Amino acid sequence: MSADCLFCKISAKKIPSKIVYEDEDVFAFEDISPQAPTHILLCPRKHFISLDHATAEDQAVIGKLQLVAAQLARERNLLDGYRTVFNNGAGAGQSVFHLHLHLLGGRPFRWPPG
Ligand code: 5GP
Ligand code: ZN
Repeated sequence: MSADCLFCKISAKKIPSKIVYEDEDVFAFEDISPQAPTHILLCPRKHFISLDHATAEDQAVIGKLQLVAAQLARERNLLDGYRTVFNNGAGAGQSVFHLHLHLLGGRPFRWPPG
């Protein structure tokens, strides 16, 4: 828990959000400004900033974020494909500095991403 972190406050339910999945390791909620019909953010309960700040002890939870995202994508029938994205650092578009995985689906995506 980092006292001034938005996503730690969402984890602790001090700030309301539309939680779509949670367990002891991870939580997932609807993005407040969705960039696709499905736009969910998945976070570890443990506060760390980005992949660049992850250590070996975070390996399992980082994998779990991807597998929970896949499960949510199946439940939402994102059959045409979906995207999971970590933005690491401000230069990559990161604006909240608690690691989170974006799950985006429900529309076509271009490659390369912007
Ligand atoms: P980033 O830019 O760091 O990769 O992603 C941060 C995401 O958090 C953005 O997509 C943004 O819309 C979302 N976000 C920012 N503040 C809030 C909030 O208070 N509630 C929710 N549900 N999402 C937020
Ligand atoms: Zn945090």
